[in-house]
Amino acid sequence: MPLTGIEIFKLLPKTNCGECKVPTCLAFAMNLAAGKAQLSACPYVSEEAKTKLEEASAPPIMPVTIGVGDKALKVGGETVMFRHEKRFVNPCGFAILISDTMAESEVEARLERFKQLQYERIGLTLHPDLIAVKGDSGDAQKYEALVNKVKQNSDGGIILMSSNPDILAAGLKACADRKPLIYAATGDNLERLAPLAKENSCPVAVKASNVEGLTQLTTKLTEAGVKDIVLDSGARTLRQAFEDQIIIRSAALNKKFRPLGFPTIVFPCEMTDDPMKEAVIASIFVAKYGGIIVLSDFRGESLFPLLMERLNIYTDPQRPLATAEGIYEIGGPDENSPVLLTSNFSLTYFIISGEIETSKVPSYLLVKDTEGLSVMTAWAAGKFVADAIAPFVKKCGIGDKIKYHKLIIPGYAAAESGGLEEELPGWEILVGPREGAHIPAYLKAWKP
Ligand code: SF4
Repeated sequence: MPLTGIEIFKLLPKTNCGECKVPTCLAFAMNLAAGKAQLSACPYVSEEAKTKLEEASAPPIMPVTIGVGDKALKVGGETVMFRHEKRFVNPCGFAILISDTMAESEVEARLERFKQLQYERIGLTLHPDLIAVKGDSGDAQKYEALVNKVKQNSDGGIILMSSNPDILAAGLKACADRKPLIYAATGDNLERLAPLAKENSCPVAVKASNVEGLTQLTTKLTEAGVKDIVLDSGARTLRQAFEDQIIIRSAALNKKFRPLGFPTIVFPCEMTDDPMKEAVIASIFVAKYGGIIVLSDFRGESLFPLLMERLNIYTDPQRPLATAEGIYEIGGPDENSPVLLTSNFSLTYFIISGEIETSKVPSYLLVKDTEGLSVMTAWAAGKFVADAIAPFVKKCGIGDKIKYHKLIIPGYAAAESGGLEEELPGWEILVGPREGAHIPAYLKAWKP
């Protein structure tokens, strides 16, 4: 928890020399507490006070970054137990498992699935994040070759998995520049893994047999100078792993217990052999509170719902999900295709675009920015009325794409048809169905 101004003041020199550009230490402390000043502005603060202040200002769950560049995954950094209190900030990462005992063809198929299983939704690309490379063979050379292959064929983050420091060192030789997560430091190998992680500036996961064991390991690692840590409580049953997630987050946030103030990694892939059960277990950890979720494999039918769940959990519940305003082309429309209009509430967009796809009638869908409100709510709020819609239709450029200027508005906005005909001279305004489910029949009967 951040320190108050008075608590900070107690750690300052109290000489009121003014070199920090404010007249008193108390004023400087107040500025620090409000985030308006940097501690470095006071040249006289003691090393001991500096350490205390830095520790006190650290987030309760440290953020940890795995990977580099655009595809780097940042997990942790959360400040609340429940998303109705405040938004969850750093979405969990999904990892696919690859082992050095797998056949070459299987490794390639998994790498291909990692690359291909990406989905465009509401202007975002939803994709998995990490490849967990497991050293099961015990052969360091073989492991290094596999890690190298993963690195060459994917831009995702990498998790190096082994309990043997020599195997992990071989993996690091191949991909240290990609800042992989080293998994896992245990009571047996921590002495060797800590320097390895420090030399390569890579995050480390610790694995214990229970939550108490974790606190000892993170304390040792922190003392050894490793700051980027991920927690594995070792639980491999859903019930125990779920309980551990809650205990860890609660201890970090409610008790300010630093040794557990790190993101977690969970292994649904080791909790069941049934792929559907595995997906269900993973979905539980998306909500509570997995930082990294390792799956045995990726399948579109289970990965897509998990990515959608993550998208929903890690959005601000106080703001409706919105789609970007613009023209959406569905099914390759041409100059004779119908033009439909809707609001930018994401659920509305998903339903309408889905129904247009089902109709198999290539169409243009105009999505008007209504600040994420549905058609009826936006209409009632004056955001989906003729005065607001007409400038958007003129500006978006749809008029240049079509021969017949006909605009199909939602049935619930029928009252705007007269106003739109006045505001959009040369356009014919057609009132479409009230319900999305009736769109396919409407479009099939549509004539330009
Ligand atoms: Fe106090 Fe340091 Fe500012 Fe001087 S520079 S007034 S000692 S806080």
